[in-house]
Amino acid sequence: MSNIKFSESCYLCNSDSNYIKTDHDKSRHYLCSNESCGEYEISLSAMERLIDNNDFKSQLLPLAKRCKGTDGLLEISVRGSGIEAKIRPRA
Ligand SMILES: [Zn+2]
Repeated sequence: MSNIKFSESCYLCNSDSNYIKTDHDKSRHYLCSNESCGEYEISLSAMERLIDNNDFKSQLLPLAKRCKGTDGLLEISVRGSGIEAKIRPRA
């Protein structure tokens, strides 16, 4: 896992944020500057799946916010034909 930080607008809310690549470049761990948003890890396949689903993204904001600065991390991934969003303990 590399710790290089990339600057990019937040996937969920488009605010200033940065991310590091995780899971052998298959996921991104975002840290967002928006007070209504927060911190989450999302897989590239989930990003593809959710690209135009703004309703779902906005539902994830409070969960990401809840994880900011805590022991938990919001993990967003593809599970079967749907998307799974769960808070898991940090590794
Ligand atoms: Zn955000």
